[in-house]
Amino acid sequence: MKRAVFLDRDGTITKSDGYFSSYEKIELLGNLSGAIKLLNRDFLVIIITNQPVVARGMCTEEDVRKTHGKIIKDLEKQGARIDGVYFCPHHPEHHDDVPEHARKYRVQCKCRKPETELIEQAVEDFGIDVRNSFFIGDSTRDIKTAKNAGCTSILVRTGLAGNDKKYDVEPDYTCNDILEASKLVNELINVRAVLLAGGKGERLRPLTLNTPKPLLEIAGKSILEHQMDALKRSGINKIVLCASYLSDKIKDRFGDGSRFSVSIEYPEEPEMLGSGGAVKNAKAFLDDASYLIIINGDSMVDGKFDFRELVKFHVNASAFATLLVRETDHPLDSDVLRIDENGRILEFIGRGQEECKIANSGMTVCSPKLLDCIPDGNCNIEKDVLFKLIEKKDLYGFKMPNSWFKRDIGTLERLESVRKYFD
Ligand SMILES: [Mg+2]
Ligand SMILES: [Zn+2]
Repeated sequence: MKRAVFLDRDGTITKSDGYFSSYEKIELLGNLSGAIKLLNRDFLVIIITNQPVVARGMCTEEDVRKTHGKIIKDLEKQGARIDGVYFCPHHPEHHDDVPEHARKYRVQCKCRKPETELIEQAVEDFGIDVRNSFFIGDSTRDIKTAKNAGCTSILVRTGLAGNDKKYDVEPDYTCNDILEASKLVNELINVRAVLLAGGKGERLRPLTLNTPKPLLEIAGKSILEHQMDALKRSGINKIVLCASYLSDKIKDRFGDGSRFSVSIEYPEEPEMLGSGGAVKNAKAFLDDASYLIIINGDSMVDGKFDFRELVKFHVNASAFATLLVRETDHPLDSDVLRIDENGRILEFIGRGQEECKIANSGMTVCSPKLLDCIPDGNCNIEKDVLFKLIEKKDLYGFKMPNSWFKRDIGTLERLESVRKYFD
C-alpha cells in the first residue's frame, strides 16, 4: 500500500486563500516545486480542495479542472509531480443571489471538507494506506478533515494559518510553510526501531535455557512479533535487531524480515554489551535515521500501541530523548520519576517512594545523536546514558494513554500474568 501526502490548495500551495475563479488569479508559492519534489520519492501527492467558486457561479467545474491542469503542468516543468486532484464544487447554503446555473451546487454534500469523501475516493483510486498518510493544510477545516480521515495533520502558517477557527482542533504538527512541512514528513517516516533482544533472561529459567526471552510466546505469537505488529501499524518497518544470547534462533525465525513485511538488520555483537553497548554497536545501521525508537525485547505491547503518538510528543517537545512513562498504582515497586507539567523529567527517584506516580516504562524515542553519549563497553542504556540527560534538562517523558498495553515479562510470575491477560 502506498502512502500519500494530501495537500489543501488555496493558502497551502498558493500565496493566499480566497476565491480564485481562474488560473491567472492564482499565485503559487515560490518554494512549492522544491517541497513537492521532496515528497515525490516516497509519497503520492494529491490535492484535496473545496472550490465553492463553482457553487457561487463564478466559474464552472470545467474551469476548475483547467486550472488544475495548468498547475500540474507548471510544476511538471520544474520537475515536481502531482498525482491527483480532487475537488468539491458544492456549498451547503442557499442564497437568493446565486445565479440560476449554479443552484444545483447548493447542496449538503459528502465531499466538502471536513467530510472525507474526496480522500476516500483517492484511497480507492490509488490504494492508499490512509493511516500512515499526511494532510497538509492552512485551515482548521483541513486539520478536522485529516482527523476525520485518520491521517497525520500538519498546519502551515501560510494562507489562513489556522486563524479561521472554524473547528476546535489541534494539529499534530505546525510548520511555517509547505517546504518545512515536507521536510518534516520525510523525517517522520525515517524512524528506525532498535529492538534489544540480547538478554539472557536468567529470571525466566528454565523457559529461557533454549529459547531467547523475546521468542517466548503470548497469545500464539512471540513477543518480538507483537512488537513488529505494533511498529508496522505505526508505519515503522525498518528494524535493527540487537541479538546476542541464542541469537541464531532469533535470526532463523525472522531472517531479513520479509516474511513479516519488515526489514531487519542484525549488528554483529562480539560479546554481551548490555543495552547501552548494544545500541552503540549498532551505530552503522542507525546514523542516517531521523529518530530511533529503542524497545526492550522483553516488553509485551498490544495492537493499540501507536508509536506515532510517542514520536509526535518527542518532536513537538524538541526533546533530545523521550521516555515512555506511565501512571502507576503501585509506585513502591516501580521506577518512579518526577516530571513537570510540560513532560520534562526533573529527577529519577527509583523505587520505594509513594509521592510520584509516574513510572519509567522502558521505551525511548531519541535522536541518533544519543549514540555519541554512550560510553564504550558494557553499559546500561537507562542508568548510564538516558538518566544522565536529566541534569542537562534534555530528557522528557511521554505519558502512555491508558488504552495501550505494555508490560515487561522479565520474571516467570509476570510472564504468567501477561499470558493470562491475553487469554
Ligand atoms: Mg486553504
Ligand atoms: Zn461536495
